[in-house]
Amino acid sequence: MADVFVLVDHANGVVRKTTAELLTLAARVGNPVAIFVGPGVEKAQPVLARFGATRVFAMDNADVTGYLVAPQAELLAGLVKKFRPAAVLIPANPAGKEIAARLAIKTDSGLITDAVDVVAGDGGVETTQSVFAGSYTVTARVTKGTPIIAVKPNSAAPVESAAAAQVVPVNLTITEGGKGAKITESSPRVASGRPELNEAAIIVSGGRGTAGDFGAVEAFADSLSAAVGASRAAVDAGWYPHTAQIGQTGKQVSPQLYVAAGISGAIQHRAGMQTSKTIVAVNKDPEAPIFELVDFGVVGDLFSVLPQATAQVEAS
Ligand code: FAD
Repeated sequence: MADVFVLVDHANGVVRKTTAELLTLAARVGNPVAIFVGPGVEKAQPVLARFGATRVFAMDNADVTGYLVAPQAELLAGLVKKFRPAAVLIPANPAGKEIAARLAIKTDSGLITDAVDVVAGDGGVETTQSVFAGSYTVTARVTKGTPIIAVKPNSAAPVESAAAAQVVPVNLTITEGGKGAKITESSPRVASGRPELNEAAIIVSGGRGTAGDFGAVEAFADSLSAAVGASRAAVDAGWYPHTAQIGQTGKQVSPQLYVAAGISGAIQHRAGMQTSKTIVAVNKDPEAPIFELVDFGVVGDLFSVLPQATAQVEAS
């Protein structure tokens, strides 16, 4: 079976859930091989082994780790040219999408972004892809070079499948560092205790309907161990940080469950959440456009509905 590369998303060896999802997708179409950049491979190795990585190509070298995306694309391009994998899967976060684009150019390959599924097709690796800000879902296949596929978080449920995850140190000469942006300082995000939006299985979002009081939204989110999102109206009003904005000019998410409370469902908001697996809306206006795309809708005041829902979840 041909190798399928997965670029590991991690923080100092703490592997993010997206990586387990990508390894699971890789196993469907070939032999998962993890590419690990930076310090902490010893910490990551058991997790990569648990989710089926047969080998781990690891590079912890200041030429790669001290910079943003360009050296990682160069490293991947070197490995692609040497090992000719059947595909490369990269997390579709902002850095990952840029790495994927640079890698596609460097290897003269086709690129698919925002894939939400990866399967083995008759003509090679096939993807289901969310396009035009989530307005359409298409089946796509790369027809040139090595398929470079940026996969949206939460696209697959991680499946454990024990493998050796043998660590193979990589010694490639990286020349692009000086041409890219150098990391001069990094400061950790203030932890909210809630999951990150891009990784969360459940998101509860609030909009202008909260009138600036996110208490009911946060309480319901916490009862479900969910992340909290916001519409741009709520962010522009200064009620919630921009990092929580969902939509065309915010984050694009695909959780298992998305709850929109006091959000009308403008096209720009939909662009960030309409690929969610199950969508629930709470809105006091039965004509609100959000009800066109929901799986379950509650017509009512969020300040009455959400506390009842929270109490039900906490009692169960
Ligand atoms: P509104 O549209 O005002 O809707 C509020 C809803 O709350 C209404 O449906 C109302 O019935 C309901 N409501 C009120 N009170 C209650 C209550 N007590 N209980 C229950 N329901 C209640 N928007 C985004 O969200 N993300 C983006 O990334 C984004 N990018 C944009 C980019 C561009 C270029 C532009 C032009 C716009 C963008 N927008 C974006 C803005 C978007 O067009 C909408 O203005 C915005 O999404 C509206 O937010 P909202 O649904 O919270 O507010």
